[in-house]
Amino acid sequence: MAQTESNPIHRVGVIGGGQLAWMMGPAAQRLGLELVVQTPSPSDPAVAIASSALFAAVDDAIATATLAAQCDVITFENEFIDCEGLQPLADQGTRFRPGLEVLALVLDKRHQREFFADIGLPNPCYDFLEGDESEAELAAKAEALGWPLVMKTRRLGYDGYGTAVVKAASQLSATWDRFNHAPVLLEEFVPFKQELAVMVARSAAGEIAVYPTVETQQVDQICRRVLAPARVEPAVAATMHRLACTLAEQLQLVGILGIECFLTQQDQVLINEIAPRTHNSGHYSLDACATSQFEQQLRAVSDRPLGPAGLTCPQAVMVNLLGLEASDEHHYRQLEALKQLPEATLYWYTKGIRPGRKLGHITQRLDAAADPVAAAQAIEAIWYG
Ligand code: ADP
Repeated sequence: MAQTESNPIHRVGVIGGGQLAWMMGPAAQRLGLELVVQTPSPSDPAVAIASSALFAAVDDAIATATLAAQCDVITFENEFIDCEGLQPLADQGTRFRPGLEVLALVLDKRHQREFFADIGLPNPCYDFLEGDESEAELAAKAEALGWPLVMKTRRLGYDGYGTAVVKAASQLSATWDRFNHAPVLLEEFVPFKQELAVMVARSAAGEIAVYPTVETQQVDQICRRVLAPARVEPAVAATMHRLACTLAEQLQLVGILGIECFLTQQDQVLINEIAPRTHNSGHYSLDACATSQFEQQLRAVSDRPLGPAGLTCPQAVMVNLLGLEASDEHHYRQLEALKQLPEATLYWYTKGIRPGRKLGHITQRLDAAADPVAAAQAIEAIWYG
């Protein structure tokens, strides 16, 4: 790493070159920062906005050493890194923001849950398996949690891939077989009222910016739409805000963090998981907040003052555009139709079109009187038919 702690940051290394890094592009330009991405393929979205790219897997620590030599700080758009492999770099002075200890914690859902419990933040009742337990041990742990329960792979799960609801004891063993007896989290099924999310950024100087609490709605365990702000009592929003500050401080976060929660029928907030990077639930901030989550991440990791995180319109909806079982031409026709919506901004990530893949999103700014669910449904009627 060419720079010392006191030198200004100009070049930001980003591990991962998907849509999250792609959406950092305009903010980097505004802030006078250069982005260098480490990503597997020249066709990855962020290659187009980067000043240069290093083509390697995100967990290729040797490639990250090369990245570090070119950059003043390294941040993440993808957390599936090789923490152990990167530790020598950190020991030699490479600035990882957030720090590797935050990444290591987040990489294993078990460690996340233990951390939440340690700092007194409520999360669903859970247990875990390492993978070498007997069927009897599995059954005993499951019975203690009750039915239905949720089995989740502890590492590398995303968008619900690696999450299964187990309805009854009779399905337990077959489900674990489908997980290849990998280390898993077992947790109570939460019959939540809503799913909530919040983004929080923190700088090295300790400045914190918390975004509004939003409501996320999933279809088949993948985020379909986000309503901002969440339709919750002020006390719930205040709890989410406090929780975000607590997590940012306890983690000594430098960067941005996405926090996903369940709101129970009794209005209790339970943390589901955290992600030490920008997050799908924060995409609305590009068009509906004073500072987007992407700009905020770059501000936080480059020692610039954080920007205001409040909404600039009464409300907004964001709808994810997933790949359809249809021709490419059909996708492009639907995009043209979406472009006609008022107060809406479309983001198309230019990734290969595949059914179920997150290909883009659209955010619509709404006035106070609008019904956000109806607005989201109108968008979805165009895209999903
Ligand atoms: P991933 O890490 O793959 O995104 P999540 O833990 O976020 O997995 O789960 C994906 C979705 O599955 C959640 O948004 C939620 O809708 C549902 N889900 C996950 N855990 C539970 C649970 N314990 N109870 C009820 N629904 C759950």
